[in-house]
Formats: sequence, structure tokens, C-alpha cells
Amino acid sequence: MDFTILTLFPDFINQGIHTSILGKACDKGLLSFKAVDIRSYSTDKNNRVDDYTYGGGAGMLMQAQPVFDAYMANCVHEGKKKPRTIYVTPQGRPFTQTIANELSREDELVFICGHYEGIDQRVLDEIVTDRYSIGDYVLTGGELPALVMIDAISRLVPGVLGNDVSADIESFHGNLLEYPQYTRPECWMDKKVPEVLLKGNPKEVEAWRLDKSKELTKRVRPDLYEKYELSLRVIEELSKDKKSNVHLLEAIKRGTGEIISVDPLMIYIPQAGIVFINEGICVDKNQSFESINPEKIFSLLPEKAGIFISTREIFDILEKDERFEFYCDVKNAVYTEKVHKKIKNKNIKQLDKSYIEIIAENYGHGENGYVAKRVERGQVYGIFVEDKLAGFIGTHYEGSIGMLFIFPEYRRMGLGTDLENFMINRELEMGHMPFGQIIMDNDASFALQSKNGLYLGQRVFTWFGLKNK
Ligand code: SAM
Repeated sequence: MDFTILTLFPDFINQGIHTSILGKACDKGLLSFKAVDIRSYSTDKNNRVDDYTYGGGAGMLMQAQPVFDAYMANCVHEGKKKPRTIYVTPQGRPFTQTIANELSREDELVFICGHYEGIDQRVLDEIVTDRYSIGDYVLTGGELPALVMIDAISRLVPGVLGNDVSADIESFHGNLLEYPQYTRPECWMDKKVPEVLLKGNPKEVEAWRLDKSKELTKRVRPDLYEKYELSLRVIEELSKDKKSNVHLLEAIKRGTGEIISVDPLMIYIPQAGIVFINEGICVDKNQSFESINPEKIFSLLPEKAGIFISTREIFDILEKDERFEFYCDVKNAVYTEKVHKKIKNKNIKQLDKSYIEIIAENYGHGENGYVAKRVERGQVYGIFVEDKLAGFIGTHYEGSIGMLFIFPEYRRMGLGTDLENFMINRELEMGHMPFGQIIMDNDASFALQSKNGLYLGQRVFTWFGLKNK
């Protein structure tokens, strides 16, 4: 991911980003940073970049011209769409882990750091796409907020942490804060590491950690704890038909989805810009349900959402609205066992960037660059016969197994089943319930799923999108 930071203090930024994990990610070519000195674009003979505010008031304001010229010279490239441009400001939306996840999908981000009393509104209106605040307090400049955001976003970029799992199991995952942790020595200043961690029984450790997380969250972040309790209630309701609702259940359990409404039930996957829409869930006895209508859905939608998966019944209502366009109808296929599957051809490995082109050529779905992103996230695997790629499979952002493709000369050899079973085993190892979404007219896939021991959900779900996205 490429970051460009427009600032009056490039040294401040450079010192912050070239150390530790971000510095290493930069050396590996996973991230790039460019701190641009706004002052060097001043046309004033004394290099001034600020002036008094019209209408009076204390303090100076950064002028529009140097900010605009710095932006045009460094962030706008012919033939490329304008990058998302973030102004860090106390007047912005509060920056959260969900937003960090959403922004980590971008290839390029621009940050604008204010100083003094801020920046002339006209240039902000001209170039800024997003405004974020890092908290309800006022700092002297935007450099620290930009660094805070860059750090939180960067660690979600595949490969930056080295161990991608750790980004998944930290505070805010599943609306609980992280449990306390300990390292050597066993006893320090007469304080012992809790017995349960020393014994190391995985089930007991997990239960202890969950208890501690709940205790801490309830005490210091009652707002988050409320969300956690809500998710438990939603899980309970959806579990009444696990096979049909597996995509919703897994999104909540894996922490990839955030519940944004319970009537209708809407779950947002920020990393994919996808929203699941289902019938309302009853969370309190006196709740009455509203009827589904497009206006309500639009009023609840996150700004960057562009793809939807709803029950067929809900789409029947929404389809009357011209802003939506139909993609396909699907059913869930779920592997409900815990036993690992047997694989005949074990010559399966994670595919690297050199395979992007061949996968994209043969996998016909998804926006431009989708395949590349899945490969970069380590989510696509290939099966090999005599060292030649014979087929591939992957997981989608929202958690389903898919993208299965076998090259014609290798069909009818059981390679599709091997690939699917490999992915099922991989999902089981991560504690997930493996599932795929099968397009309604794909009889071959339905046959493969049932032969392979997957169960089909009863309900039909519809994928659709926004026409102009
Ligand atoms: N007059 C502004 C106001 O009342 O909102 C405060 C300006 S502040 C002194 C200078 C710059 O610091 C801002 O333009 C912004 O870029 C940055 N800044 C300060 N506090 C921030 C926060 N909590 N979150 C994000 N950016 C902040």
C-alpha cells in the first residue's frame, strides 16, 4: 500500500514510519511512504503557508493554495482515479478498527495534516474524501493522528505482521478487549502467572481468557460489551437454521462482520464492502418489526458498501428500486462435521503473485484486481500435477470457499474434490465452519457438494450491487 502524507513537518512523519514493523514492511516493499512538505509549494516570497481567519478569531489558518498544489503535484496521476484522501481532524468521524479494516483494502491513501487552527475549508471541499478524528481531544497538528491511523491500517496489510493471525485475535475482535498476558519469569515481585496458563490445557486457557476479556470489557468499555451481548443474541437466533445462515454466523464469529442493524438484520464486512441483509432479529420483548423498504436500507448503509447478500424475499422487495442491480442467486453448502477430509493428491500449495494473471484469466467473477488481492492475502491455493498448475481454489472476503477452477485437461481426476477438501481442512484448523455459496444454476457444483458430504441450506440468497459502484 502506498501512503502519501501532506504535512508541514515531513521529518516528524519520516521518523515515525521508518522504524520497527512499518520500517521492515517498507524494506520488503509491502508499504511505501512519501512525506510531502506543503511549505515547498508556497508561492509566497517568504514561504508563508498560513494567514488570519476571515471573521476574526484566535490563531492562524493554513491557506488553500499550497495544500492544493502539493496535492495536485503528488497525488493526482494521469489516467488513474483520485486516491482516497483523508483529512485528520477533530471534526471527523471517530476512527475505529472497522474503518482501519475498510481502509486496508485500498492500494493508495493520502493523508492531509492540519496545523494551527486547521485548513481553509475550500481546499478541503475540493480534495478530501474522508475525515477522521482519533479522539475527542485537540492536538497541535495532524501528524500524530496520521501516524496513528497509518500504523493501525498498515498492520492489516497482508505480510506486514509476518503472522497474519495475530491481527485477528486482538482487542476489538468480536467486540471484546484482549485478556491479560504474561511472559517469563513465572514469578515477578511476588506476583505469579495465573495457574491456568502454566498448566496449559488449551480449553481451560481459552475459557479463562474469554472470562477475563468479558470482565475487562464490561468494566472499562460497557459500550463494547453491549455490542458483544447483542452479537450473542443474534448468533442464538441465526443458529436455529445454521446451514442457511452460515455466512452470517461465521462473519460474526470470525469478527469480520459488524452488526449495523437488527431490524432488518444488517451485517457489514468492511474489508469487502459487503452488507448481508436478513429479516429482523428480536432483541427485546417489546420490539415490533418494521417492514423492509429501500429507503430504510439506504439510510443504514455504510458509505463504502457496494455489494449486498440478502434473502431472496428481501431482494424481491428491493429489486423494485432502480439503484440496485441483480448479480445471482445462491444457496449455502456447509460442512458441519469436525473430522478432517482425506486428500489423494497432496501437491497443493499457496499461490504467489506470479500466478495472478493465470487465475484472473480463468476465474470470471469479481471486480478488477480482486484476484490479486486474494492472492496477496494468501487465500488462493493451487493443485499441481507433475509440477504443472492443474487447478485452483480460494476463500472470498466474506469467508466462503470459492473460485474453484480445474483446467480442462485435468478434469474428472478428482482434483476439484481434493482442492475443496484441502480448503475444508484449512478452515477447520482455523476453527471455522467451512462453507461455500453455490450459484443456483450450477448443477455440477451442487452435485460435487453433496457427493463430498456438504449440506445445502434451504434458503436462497441473492447477491446484488449498486449500479454506479
Ligand atoms: N481548530 C480545530 C478544531 O477546533 O477542530 C483544531 C485544529 S488543531 C489545533 C490542528 C490540526 O491538528 C487539525 O487541523 C488536525 O489536522 C489535527 N488534529 C488535532 N486534533 C485532532 C484529532 N483529535 N484527530 C485528528 N486530527 C486532529
